[in-house]
Formats: sequence, C-alpha cells, structure tokens
Amino acid sequence: MTLLSVDQARERILSSFRPVTTETLPLTGCSDRVLAQDIVAANDLPPFDNSSMDGFAVRAADLLEATAASPRRLRVVADIPAGSHPTIFLASGEAARIMTGAPIPDGADAVVPVEDTDFNNRDAGTPAPGEVQIFKSVKTGANRRPRGMDIQAGNVVLHKGRLLKPQDLGLLATLGFAQVLVYRKPRVALFSSGDELLAADAALEGGKIRDSNSYTLAALLEEAGADVIRLGVARDNHAAVQDLLDQAIELGVDLILSSAGVSVGAFDYVKQVIESNGNLDFWRVNMRPGKPMAFGEYGKIPFIGLPGNPVSAFVGFEVFVRAAIQRLGGSSSGGRPTVRVRCAEQIDSDGRESYLRARVREDAERGIFITDLTGHQGSGNLHSLVQANALLIIPAGVKCVPAGQELQAWLI
Ligand code: AMP
Ligand code: MG
Repeated sequence: MTLLSVDQARERILSSFRPVTTETLPLTGCSDRVLAQDIVAANDLPPFDNSSMDGFAVRAADLLEATAASPRRLRVVADIPAGSHPTIFLASGEAARIMTGAPIPDGADAVVPVEDTDFNNRDAGTPAPGEVQIFKSVKTGANRRPRGMDIQAGNVVLHKGRLLKPQDLGLLATLGFAQVLVYRKPRVALFSSGDELLAADAALEGGKIRDSNSYTLAALLEEAGADVIRLGVARDNHAAVQDLLDQAIELGVDLILSSAGVSVGAFDYVKQVIESNGNLDFWRVNMRPGKPMAFGEYGKIPFIGLPGNPVSAFVGFEVFVRAAIQRLGGSSSGGRPTVRVRCAEQIDSDGRESYLRARVREDAERGIFITDLTGHQGSGNLHSLVQANALLIIPAGVKCVPAGQELQAWLI
C-alpha cells in the first residue's frame, strides 16, 4: 500500500478533476454560484457626474466670500430631481436645486448642501425657491460624484472563478448583467458503509451505532457548493455495494464519496465491485487523523473513500474533498480561512501531519490568537470536534510543539 504525504495525495486527487460545464442563469439564481466568465464594465460608474447631497448646484467661484453673516444670494434657475436630465448651462450668479443622485448641470462645479443655505426644506413637493442665500464657500468638486469615479468602462470588475457574493450581484445588476454564465453545481453521490450502521431515528441495539457521517458529509458538501444525492448505507456485501455504485452511474454524478471501510482488508466488497468497472487504490496518508483512504474511479466517475471514524471523515473532507469540489465547481477560492495562532500549551505529536481539534480565542491585550486543544483527540470523538472552532495544523516531522510556538489553523 502506498504511503503518501498529504500534498502528494491531494495532488493525485486534484489531477483527476476538471471543472463541470457552465450554464447561463438570471441574476436572482446566482447567489453562491461560481462565475464562469470575466465581467467587463460596459459603462462608467457612476454613469454621469451627480450630486451626493440634497442642495444647490453652484459655481464655487461665486461663493468665495459667502459667510453666515454675509450670505451670497443666487438666482435659482432650475430644479433637478433624481432621474431628470438637465439641459441648462449654469451661469455665474445662478444656482439649481438638486437632489442626491441627480445629474450636475453643465457650468456647475460643486453642490452646497441645503444645511448651508436659507432653504433647508426637504418636504416632498415643496417647489424650488426663486432665490437662495448661501452661508458658506465650497471647494470646486465638493459633493460631486464624478462620472467613472467607481468603475471605468472596460475595467474587468469580477473574474472567472469567483464565488458570487450578495454585493457582487448588486454590481452585476448596476452594470446591466441581468444574467451571467456560471458553473453548474457539481453533483456528488454520497453513501456510508457498514453493517453496524443504524438510521438517526432508530433505537440503539447491541453492537450498532447510528450513521453520523452521512449527515456531516452531506452538509459539508452542500456548504462547499455541491448538490448532494444521498444513497444511504451500503451493507457489507457485494450486491449492496454494486447497487449503490450503479445508481451513482445512472445519476451521472461528478463524484462518488463514501465513508468507512478503507482500513486494510476491510473494504473488500467495494474493492471487488469497483475493480469490476474501474480501479481503486488504497493509500496510507502521512496524516492524523485519517491515515487510510481510497481513491479511484467507477464507470469513469471519480471515487473517494474517506475513513469511517467521524473526525477522520471530517478532516479527510477538509484536506482532500473540499479542494476537489472547488476544482469541479470552477472556483478559484482557497477554502477555509487560515489564521496564525500561538499554542497555549505544549503539544506532542507523532511526526504525521496532524489536524487537531482546537479552540482559537483572541488575546485582546496582545492582539494575537491563542489556541487550546479540545477534549480527547481520538478520531471517533465527535463531541471534541463540535467543541472546536479550528483545526490546528502540526507539520509533518514535528514531534513536540512547545507552548508559545506559532502554528497555522483553519477556522471551521
Ligand atoms: P471503518 O473505517 O469501517 O473501519 O470504521 C471505522 C470506525 O468508524 C468504526 O468505529 C465505525 O463503526 C465508525 N463508522 C463507520 N461509518 C460510520 C458512520 N457512517 N457514522 C459513524 N461512525 C461510523
Ligand atoms: Mg466498517
């Protein structure tokens, strides 16, 4: 059986995945989808010079001497609500009432907010005054949002591979993209295996446990952007395993993911079935937890077999499967956020690359993150994973981390 480093195993897995096909969707369906095109702005933003205040468009040079004691009186020659398109040219001695977002007329070079005038009345429907007194001078350009200040036509504003966030959808809409090209969601068939597994609502009986992995893994897959098809539990016999795997082929999924049965000798049925229509390698990965895993393909569909222990399955997902889903889904984002943390206690390791359950907290005084391990690190102990908010990464080759040393952690 091959012994691989974590990086080698990840590289081997990733090299067999290509992005899925794309589809054009209306913007309303694009939240959390991955963009499959670069977005180039077809117009400037804002598209025209406009006012950032309710006030009066003016020529700054007219107001050099204006003060509250000696206001400057201007003739109001136009009223410019948002959505209107002024055609006037503002001459010296003139002002135009203007609303936030309305175009600044030619000739004007600044906006005086209503607060600095004797016409501080914003009630709807109030007509513009014939004259206005201005109490303050303004700088040229004050309260003016120039055309193109945010985005210029021709700028690439979003790149292919970006996971679309709510604010991205707003930007797409403002640029006139009512629909965009996105990657379709990767489809993953998921099953658990083992004769000991019961449904979540079953009463416990001798020697049996409830299947927890399929819930954890399905939720992780969905969070990573996949559509999940839950195939249930494969019992430890040839026909049951073959039946599940053939369903996956019929469904035309992009990945088959299973948990359990990958330690030496245990996975015989899966191995037999998969090798009748594909291939399967068993790996020992130099990591903790989650050393054994299986990787291959069935009917040309990639297959990843994670270990059965609940924490090992979780860590195996984070280390290998998340990256595979990202590759399949066309995403260029980098996975879990990583922070540098300082260990509060000495940690002994066994030289394997270790992903330990930890609780990261902020030290407000020193401005750093400190971490403690949570509970018993046995790979079957799901509660210690639930209590953790991070996986602390101890590099391969390290056997003892002294208290105070800095390490990387993934926030989970
Ligand atoms: P295995 O990889 O089949 O040797 O299983 C390793 C351990 O994980 C055993 O204690 C199994 O009972 C447990 N296990 C396997 N599958 C699941 C599952 N779906 N949910 C919870 N525990 C499991
Ligand atoms: Mg088993």
